[in-house]
Amino acid sequence: MLEILPRRKTRNIQVRSVFLGGEHPIVLQSMCATRTADVERTVAQCRQLAGAGAQIVRVAVDSQRDAQALPLIAEQSPVPLAVDLQENYRLAAKVAPWVGKIRYNPGHLHHTEGHVSWSDKVRWLADIAARNGCALRVGVNCGSIDPALKERWPQADPVELMVASASEHCQLLEKLGFTNFVVSLKDSDPQKVVQANRLFAREWPHVPLHLGVTEAGPPPDGITKTRLALLPLLLAGIGETIRVSLTLPVEGKHEEVIVARNIVAEAERSRSSGTVPAELLTEPERKLNLVCCPGCSRVENAAFVALAEKVRELTSYARQYPLTIAVMGCRVNGPGETDNADVGLWCAPNYVNLKFRGELVGRFAYEDILPEVKRLLDRLIAGMSPGS
Ligand code: SF4
Repeated sequence: MLEILPRRKTRNIQVRSVFLGGEHPIVLQSMCATRTADVERTVAQCRQLAGAGAQIVRVAVDSQRDAQALPLIAEQSPVPLAVDLQENYRLAAKVAPWVGKIRYNPGHLHHTEGHVSWSDKVRWLADIAARNGCALRVGVNCGSIDPALKERWPQADPVELMVASASEHCQLLEKLGFTNFVVSLKDSDPQKVVQANRLFAREWPHVPLHLGVTEAGPPPDGITKTRLALLPLLLAGIGETIRVSLTLPVEGKHEEVIVARNIVAEAERSRSSGTVPAELLTEPERKLNLVCCPGCSRVENAAFVALAEKVRELTSYARQYPLTIAVMGCRVNGPGETDNADVGLWCAPNYVNLKFRGELVGRFAYEDILPEVKRLLDRLIAGMSPGS
């Protein structure tokens, strides 16, 4: 049952000049897809996203070169920066003076310094953030859940694991006296996003939530999926900041912000009229799901975006079959996310890894891979009936 509820009142969070939570309006965010070390293009992208309405812009920092570029980007960006640290959390010390928010992924803290516990890493991150006046985002992603939690609760549902992971980080941060943080719980399945955020909001009503559907894919389906997740949450009064992730070329990235603005406006219209959009009241049809990352600084070959679009066109003949096809832009999330797909492609610099139900089929040149994808898809749908 979908209800329209008043917006909840979480604690306030400060990201340099931007406040979110409490009585503040929903804050829009987006992310640069340029190479972070390319200062000129990244500053241009920050301006493009801010021009479309982004109030915070995220950049990925993976190396010392990226970290060195950050002061120059921050000085010229019209809005505060958030930084995404996937593998190398220690770069936080270098970037914190220049950014308003540091995002870390609890599932990725295990990838480095195996001798240091996750809690010591978070203690260190909270200390860096506090000394530099930064916020933190505990960014939990269904495709990279903390392996220790999976081991502890092997039978648990992924949604419960996501919430458990976020909760243990919230407990630790609050115990440390660090409260300037937000949480995100992202999945590529809109229903799981709704479930996870509702569950978390019940347990942690004072912690602001950053909403988003990860790897929603190219428009128009990526927009549909995002609406199906974000609208029910916003109408339930949940969500203090949002980011729409769409697979788009670098020059079109600002469309993410336009879509985010439209979703917030649609939620406001529904709230004032007291009516819920009809498609939120029916169970979504089970059909072909294209899971596709939005691309960021880490994309290994710019041809990834065009490939994702070609896969969307190629697979449209199988739309009515409930299968998952994943197309990912790099090795950070590519191998994991394609494990769970019926057909998975993850893009390396000079070839594309093709997987069939988690098993590597081979590596193919960008220009040769589409017939292979079609062959695998035909094999899957042979004998299936649409929607089965
Ligand atoms: S999978 Fe895509 S969005 Fe995620 S880190 Fe790699 S390139 Fe960036």
